[in-house]
Amino acid sequence: MTHTADQLIARDAEFCWHPFTQAQTAKAPLPIVRGEAEFLFDAKGKRYFDAVSSWWVNLHGHCNPVVSEAIKAQLDTLEHVMFAGITHPAAIDLAQALVDRAPQPLKKVFFSDNGSTAIEVALKVAFQHWSNLGLGQQRRKLLALQGGYHGDTFGAMAAGRSSGFYDPFKPWLFEVEFLPTGTCACTEEEALSSLDSTLAQQGDQIAALILEPLVQGASGMRMMRAEHVAEITKRCQRAGVLVIFDEVMTGFGRTGSLFAAQQVAQFGGHADLLCLSKGLTGGYMPMGATLASQALYDSFLSDDVGKAFLHGHSYTANPLGCAAGLASLQLLDNTATQRNIERIHSIHQYWQVQLSTHPLIENPRVCGTIAAFELKSPIDAYGSASSQWLREAFLDHSIIVRPLGNTMYWIPPYCTSSDTLEHAYQTLLKVLKQWEVTQARLFSDTELF
Ligand SMILES: *Cc1c(COP(=O)(O)O)cnc(C)c1O
Repeated sequence: MTHTADQLIARDAEFCWHPFTQAQTAKAPLPIVRGEAEFLFDAKGKRYFDAVSSWWVNLHGHCNPVVSEAIKAQLDTLEHVMFAGITHPAAIDLAQALVDRAPQPLKKVFFSDNGSTAIEVALKVAFQHWSNLGLGQQRRKLLALQGGYHGDTFGAMAAGRSSGFYDPFKPWLFEVEFLPTGTCACTEEEALSSLDSTLAQQGDQIAALILEPLVQGASGMRMMRAEHVAEITKRCQRAGVLVIFDEVMTGFGRTGSLFAAQQVAQFGGHADLLCLSKGLTGGYMPMGATLASQALYDSFLSDDVGKAFLHGHSYTANPLGCAAGLASLQLLDNTATQRNIERIHSIHQYWQVQLSTHPLIENPRVCGTIAAFELKSPIDAYGSASSQWLREAFLDHSIIVRPLGNTMYWIPPYCTSSDTLEHAYQTLLKVLKQWEVTQARLFSDTELF
């Protein structure tokens, strides 16, 4: 089979259905044939900087030899085995490595396939926990934050309903109580007082709260202070409400610490359940994990099989995923990786100051290796098209980005060199100049008609 760019695009159009894509109006996809470190190469041999870590999953660069070798070694030993009634060394090693590194009180690991399934597992464990205690009818409600995104399966969609991605499915989503957040909709004090009144009115009917600690990803990289997150968790737990941290995006060093939960723990806040995926395998294999406290695990112990967690996936604890996860964690432990995370953080911080006075940029912000800001647009109606315009403008400069509306962000692999990242910021300045010209032209067109 030949693989010229045009042939790949033609065959893709014939057979593939892409995520989050309106095929009728979308540009042809970019055919990528190879990856190396922070770069991807297209079918013509052109090199691109993967500035969003391939949808936030890649930590150590593409085709990192340590992760690749670990997967190859596992592949020649045991590729897969079911995880009910059977266990295997890679799963035990990875579960222990996660528990060793996770903050209190997380002690047990339930493996699944991706971020959405890690969320479904957490929601089902929370609901069944109350059911096992005979309080299933009483504590039925879920609390979530406005602007939260938790994935695309039904429970995850219900918890992220406020993001507006799910209009066709609304009739099938269970009810969720949404709280305003101290990110942009209101102040932290207002968010907390709204939480207080919800807890006072219906605290004993709520099973759990779910939130993305420190950074709400898909709704626009909205950042929260660790102290504020800790305050939310404490108030919920005082009312007996379980707390679920969705660290699918924030996990594995993205926010500076291995888990965002560690920064929250410094202010005395903790989660009863913690969901991981994306960076879990360094971006090499699809896998999810839900960590639970010993107390939650114990509430499923009984002579009654009906009180067990009757949930599982065919590929639960897939050995190849576990091997990749272990290799990735070992790389994360290296001081070289830690230094890279700090290096990326300080480049972001330097540019945050530079961009803070730029006339076309609003609210530049940084959390660990994540940097984000909004682009100002004088024409409101243009907002929805900004993302597409930005993507193409950066692609012309060999940089792959995927803005969320007019929110631009960098979330690079940790191996990204300072030169590559500096060049991306310099390119941003060029793209902003183009943006200004385009906006001015659009503006004059609007006046003409
Ligand atoms: C991506 C994401 C998910 C969903 O993960 P998938 O692997 O895409 O199902 C859930 N929560 C957060 C915070 C995410 O960023």
